[in-house]
Amino acid sequence: MQIAPSLHRLGDSLVNTYLVEEAGLVTIIDAGVPAYWDELPRELAGMGRSLEDVRALILTHGHSDHIGFAERFRTERGVAVRVHELDAALARGEVPNPAKGLGPMRLGPLLGFLLWSARRGALRIKTLGEVSVFGDGATLDVPGSPRVIHVPGHTPGSAALHVASHDALFVGDAFATKAVTTGAVGPRIAPFTADASEAVASLARLEAVEASWVLPGHGQPWTGGVAEAVRLVRADAESERG
Ligand SMILES: [Zn+2]
Ligand SMILES: [Zn+2]
Repeated sequence: MQIAPSLHRLGDSLVNTYLVEEAGLVTIIDAGVPAYWDELPRELAGMGRSLEDVRALILTHGHSDHIGFAERFRTERGVAVRVHELDAALARGEVPNPAKGLGPMRLGPLLGFLLWSARRGALRIKTLGEVSVFGDGATLDVPGSPRVIHVPGHTPGSAALHVASHDALFVGDAFATKAVTTGAVGPRIAPFTADASEAVASLARLEAVEASWVLPGHGQPWTGGVAEAVRLVRADAESERG
């Protein structure tokens, strides 16, 4: 679906993959679940583009529900997959998921999410044979020229990507607008976070960014401003602590 001109999303908002087009070329941000591979050509066609036009795949972090079709894309298309240097080992499957439990959960939404994911290939996600890495502050030489903002906490190498030309901030799972484990909506710390207090502290690195589109790994786009989203995540984290 189209979010804005030159900005599309794959999937139904439970797990998001984004497509950014600039001058006829495309960057994919996160690779969702394996089944999104089959939806990719149609979404690209809706932008007047094809797989040939995809020049980059950037991962916001190394979790499997963001790796999705990445290895297939890398091997079939010969395009490098990039991730922050501190999540490279996670993306290659060399270290276990650093997540400490689920956080709050409700059985219905959690089972619904697991079933939804399993039906879309989440149980057979291939980790990456090879990744290219980037560091904090880098401006990536790919369509859209995303600027990297390191926001550790959810994982050590979690990164937000600011695409100023599209007025968009891709936050990965630095925070979510839907908690897949509870069904709760609105900006909040994402489930499966390794270090919640570090994740909250990292929000300070985002709050001065101006972006009309705040695009999370899970949930609907947020259009109320980055600072307001950050305020709500902090308030929610505060109430979780009680
Ligand atoms: Zn994650
Ligand atoms: Zn995720």
